[in-house]
Amino acid sequence: MADCELCGAMKVGVRSVKTGKTEVTACARCIDKMNLGPKETAPGLAKAQSMHAKPSHASSYAARGKKGKDIMLKTEKELASDFGKRISAARKSKGWNHATLGKRMAETVNIIKSAEAGKRPTDGVLRKFERVLGISLWVVSTEETTTHVDRSSNRGMTLGDYFDDQP
Ligand SMILES: [Zn+2]
Repeated sequence: MADCELCGAMKVGVRSVKTGKTEVTACARCIDKMNLGPKETAPGLAKAQSMHAKPSHASSYAARGKKGKDIMLKTEKELASDFGKRISAARKSKGWNHATLGKRMAETVNIIKSAEAGKRPTDGVLRKFERVLGISLWVVSTEETTTHVDRSSNRGMTLGDYFDDQP
């Protein structure tokens, strides 16, 4: 038992840790907070170890924090990977050529074409595409790996069916 040089906690279990070039005596809480941990330990591993060491109320807090993070990830929006196809399909469904869409958006034909080819324009241009075409280019990103697996296997089957149907 000793004093923590970082937060000043007295008579606590401490370890000597290196912060940059100086060595300090810190309590477990400070080591956690500063993500110092044992040298050369991966952050994830250090986290897992510290979770085991923590009292129950701390681990329930950690679990709640993790859940909150998951929810945040699920509501996070990202540009659809097939945004170019979406733009192209929406434009064609309206019967517009590149020039017509460009005129309605007050953008050059080149911007329309490169966006449809999958080159990401600025967010402002993306919002114009959405407004003018009445489509959505932003998707909620899901971190569920099962979704990705299902999707790729579906795509494989669809592709196979497609080739089977060829004359
Ligand atoms: Zn401390």
